[in-house]
Amino acid sequence: MRFIVGGIMHETHTFSSEPTTTSTLPTFRGDELLRYAGVNHSLGGTLDACRDLGIAVAPTFFADGVSTGTPDRATFEALAGELLRRIAAALPADGIVLNLHGAMVAEDFPDAEAEIVRRVRDLVGSTTPIAVTLDFHANLGQAMVEACDLVTTYDTYPHIDAAERAREAVQLLARTVRGEIRPTMALAKPPLLPVPQAMFTARPPFKTLLDRAHDMEERGEALAVTVAGGFPYSDVPEAGVGALVVTDNDPRAARRLADDLAALAWELRGHMQVANRPPREAVAEAIAYPTGPVMLVDVGDNIGGGTTGDGTALLAELIAQDARDAVVVIADPESAEAAIAVGVGAMVDLSVGGKVDQRHGEPVAVRGVVRRITDGRWIHEGPENAGAPADMGPTAVVAVGGVDIVLTSCKSMPGDLAQLRSVGIEPAERQIIVVKSAVRWRGGYGPIAKHAIDVDTPGLGSVDLSRFEFRRLRRPIWPLDPDFAWSPEPVIGV
Ligand SMILES: [Zn+2]
Repeated sequence: MRFIVGGIMHETHTFSSEPTTTSTLPTFRGDELLRYAGVNHSLGGTLDACRDLGIAVAPTFFADGVSTGTPDRATFEALAGELLRRIAAALPADGIVLNLHGAMVAEDFPDAEAEIVRRVRDLVGSTTPIAVTLDFHANLGQAMVEACDLVTTYDTYPHIDAAERAREAVQLLARTVRGEIRPTMALAKPPLLPVPQAMFTARPPFKTLLDRAHDMEERGEALAVTVAGGFPYSDVPEAGVGALVVTDNDPRAARRLADDLAALAWELRGHMQVANRPPREAVAEAIAYPTGPVMLVDVGDNIGGGTTGDGTALLAELIAQDARDAVVVIADPESAEAAIAVGVGAMVDLSVGGKVDQRHGEPVAVRGVVRRITDGRWIHEGPENAGAPADMGPTAVVAVGGVDIVLTSCKSMPGDLAQLRSVGIEPAERQIIVVKSAVRWRGGYGPIAKHAIDVDTPGLGSVDLSRFEFRRLRRPIWPLDPDFAWSPEPVIGV
């Protein structure tokens, strides 16, 4: 058996002004994709599963970048075009595995992944099955369900099962090719638009939903079941929660199970609300705790969700309140360069952060001592992306009183202890650590954190969705429209 493998993974924050171009997205071609083998990532899981099942792999093209703004038509056509050309050159194959995100938006294509899969379908025809893997934050739509044969979506956030869900997709695709199963799918879309912070899958309400989904799988009612949380900062009709069920040649059962999950999600919506603390109170509380680390969760500047990574609300407050033993990572190439230029041990005056846009706080003027300079490279310890290399660009640590500011050249998601260790900081020994994240931080920091405070910081990750001007989103949708009734359409004959 031989599978063609490739994909494009981008979570598009449609309110972001940061451009997404072919040069901002790292791309891999042909055998370059094989570097993902063994990595806890969709592509890694796909490659590993094929190897274990004795399936030959034709690696084509892969793009995978941090969340930023909407790619224009030319960028989309360049990326999709290369993927399609390379797939065409690799044909024939027994099956296609596409590793996509599910919340990519491009100019002219609000559901960019559905467009990609449609084009692949047109290319390979209806007899070659297509399996798609998506992120838990996918904004699932009917067009995707119609364009492919089966979809698997992560069941975890932080995304610690990315490789496992891809392995599931490969196994199901292989069984489909062998004629053992005939996947049928149904998608239900309750009108729910929770924020990422409400989607931590180790706790209700999403734990409740995913437990129900796993029950359906374990009872043998379905081949694969998931509830995707969706990505609320993509202003598209399909944004929000989706329940997706894959059954074996039983579309009615798929419909019924998806509707059951959607109804349960709707019932649980009250538990999808979050309330965060103002920065001043949060910092005072963090300082007062007798033991650390205390995680100050900078939800408004959640880098993984498409923010700038240069938000200053918590940095300013930590300096104002003279915090001790605190660490903040700020993406600010100018400041990193200035600190690197003066060298370790020298004093430097900087205007830190708040530069990319007007939504993440003002730049903060500081005078500090350069403690450390690195090339910004490190390897993920995991659990998310374990084994994958990371590159923050040239990086400097500048101590301002009791606050260590890690100045990186590129924005770099928190959630892995190796990030701070790479600049000589042992996270477990610190009193206060600011994480520019909503939930992802829990992957690495969860086991060592003594306390965590979710902070209502400004930015593109704000949990107050009324701060964003939605134009294309379907309405009504909770919580933007708080009072309306909803239930799944009744299914005739089930
Ligand atoms: Zn995600």
